[in-house]
Amino acid sequence: MKDTTSHHDFPDSDPSAVTIDQANERIAQQLPSFTRTEQIPLLDSLGRILSSDVFSPMPSPPFRASAMDGFAYRFSDKGTERTVVGDSYAGHPGPDRLAAGDCVRITTGAKVPDDADTVVQQENTELHDKILRIVQPPKTPGHHVRDEGSDCQEGDLIAARGSTINASLMGLLSALGVTTVSVLQRLRITVISTGDELQQPGRALDDGQIFDANAPLVAALLNNPTISVSIANAMQDSLASVSEALKNAIQTSDIIITSGGVSVGERDHLRTVVDSMGGVALWKVAMKPGRPLSFGVLEGTTPWFGLPGNPVSAALTTLLFVLPALKRCQGLPAEPISVLKASCADQLTKLPGRVEFQRGVMTNDGQGNLSVSTTGLQDSHVLSSLAQANCFIRLPLSSNGALPGEEVDVIPYQFFSANLL
Ligand code: AMP
Ligand code: MG
Repeated sequence: MKDTTSHHDFPDSDPSAVTIDQANERIAQQLPSFTRTEQIPLLDSLGRILSSDVFSPMPSPPFRASAMDGFAYRFSDKGTERTVVGDSYAGHPGPDRLAAGDCVRITTGAKVPDDADTVVQQENTELHDKILRIVQPPKTPGHHVRDEGSDCQEGDLIAARGSTINASLMGLLSALGVTTVSVLQRLRITVISTGDELQQPGRALDDGQIFDANAPLVAALLNNPTISVSIANAMQDSLASVSEALKNAIQTSDIIITSGGVSVGERDHLRTVVDSMGGVALWKVAMKPGRPLSFGVLEGTTPWFGLPGNPVSAALTTLLFVLPALKRCQGLPAEPISVLKASCADQLTKLPGRVEFQRGVMTNDGQGNLSVSTTGLQDSHVLSSLAQANCFIRLPLSSNGALPGEEVDVIPYQFFSANLL
């Protein structure tokens, strides 16, 4: 569908609303860095962030090794016959000294004798008793020999500070004998729901109550090796409860995330308390769902995100604002989210003036053509559609929807790296 607003229009038709990028910039400006480090066993470090450069403590391989099963000999010796004078097996080196015309039988990964420089693979030889005939001799010295340090030299930079330890780095560091690494300490994040209507799953629901979905949802979105999330008891809608919950959380957390309690017309205890704890901002972000977003640094130390109460809004604001902030405060680049193009199977309706994230199901026809259909009802309490979807359809600020067959932006869940799939 055609755009109905110009780019000069205020987002949300409300001059006080900010764009998603503006909200992220404002958060970034106030966000402290977290740089506490710890030394941990390499085997426990998957997914953690290196806090210092790692240099190779040794060459790898640590000795010249054979790349084949065959025979090791000196290339410059005359003729195509050799006398087999020993064996070098992986982990069991044979003799290092060879007289002219000698060779050793060698296996893959075994040490090449100091006096040898070339390996001929077994298939290219004939052996009669101890006499080896090289039927197809390698053309150059050094054939099938892995040089010492041909993977890494001692002192090479193996991984820079800020790298995430992944499986390949885990293998490489192990190959170099590294057993411990210095990493950033996990960020301690406390997630707190707010609302008198909330009940913990497992208890009985009284009239008018609902189970708390947000705390488990947000905690699960954030769950990753660089973060230690804990869920605190939900706050009641009272000044005392809000104040106590935040004061407790500040003692034990690097970052606090609340959900709910910031709607217009709410008894405004959360705002009152966070305002008394430091410069706190509330923005209307020109997006749907997730319009009201609060952020501040409580008591000058502890970033606080006040997410909207509706679960889909809480999830989306976690993905768009909290996750990039967590990367940033750990010194990682917060890259823009990648977007794919897909053909829209349904008609989508939307009002101009805000970016909308509708839940969609994306399919690939196997030829690289993507299409996306809507999950239906897009209200922000509809958690079943968040579970059913595998992507968000992102409709830009000025769009007023999409027609069947129109190309739309989609963000597959996996692009958020947030345990959504
Ligand atoms: P609020 O911002 O507190 O007015 O909440 C907006 C809507 O989200 C209301 O319908 C709340 O009942 C709902 N809500 C708030 N917190 C939660 C939660 N933790 N789990 C599920 N729904 C919630
Ligand atoms: Mg509430």
